[in-house]
Amino acid sequence: MREVTVIPLGSHPRDVELEQLKTGIERVISVEITIAPRPLDIDGALDVSRKQYHSTSILATLLQQSDVQTERVLGITPFDLFVPVLTFVFGQAQLNDRAAVFSTFRLHNEFYGLPRSGELLMGRCIKEALHELGHTFGLRHCITQPCVMNSSTYVEDIDLKPADFCLPCREHLGVVL
Ligand SMILES: [Zn+2]
Ligand SMILES: [Zn+2]
Repeated sequence: MREVTVIPLGSHPRDVELEQLKTGIERVISVEITIAPRPLDIDGALDVSRKQYHSTSILATLLQQSDVQTERVLGITPFDLFVPVLTFVFGQAQLNDRAAVFSTFRLHNEFYGLPRSGELLMGRCIKEALHELGHTFGLRHCITQPCVMNSSTYVEDIDLKPADFCLPCREHLGVVL
């Protein structure tokens, strides 16, 4: 089975239970998840003027962790992420390669002035994790049917898509997993 290490970045998430995230991912795809015991420092990825972290730089940092031997590394951070051409990104991953990252910053209802919902937050985290891991397993954005590989511009897009892969994406995963 493919092994994935989930690494908290910058600080331990306070309101995301990583064990629950692990279970949520493992329920959908055949991977075995290990949670790194300590958060990884990502200060080098901070853009001081934007007050956001550069996600591409975080992917590079993840790849440099020589003590992590698993085939895939998935970073999770409470801090807001960006790539230079966009205002923000929910996450980023290498296509068909090792590293992926996502942020919980814009997955909280409170960010949108709505009442806190632990259930919605966890559901969104699982979808983001599956989506970014899907990229690392060679999947591109899926446009024809409801699928966790649909791209998401707004949090509403995340809520609308299922926490699962459509049949063609699942067939692709069946080959690589
Ligand atoms: Zn994507
Ligand atoms: Zn799909």
